[in-house]
Amino acid sequence: MPETRPPAEDTCGRCKQTRPLFAAKTEWGRVPPLLCSPCWSRYADARARNTFVDFNDAFDNATDEQLSDALGLNA
Ligand SMILES: [Zn+2]
Repeated sequence: MPETRPPAEDTCGRCKQTRPLFAAKTEWGRVPPLLCSPCWSRYADARARNTFVDFNDAFDNATDEQLSDALGLNA
């Protein structure tokens, strides 16, 4: 779970729902700076597996090779 300061409830940068938000980790790259707990966990899980949460995430943060893999272009 996020180990940040007590969250303020606001609009999540990813799912757009009003929830308590947590600061994204800088090493995740270009991601919404404030995320609700489920979205925060999705990014944490994806980065732990060296993958991406969705196409936008891959487009913003993947290398060309990773992006091709994510899109199935190297199959
Ligand atoms: Zn969210």
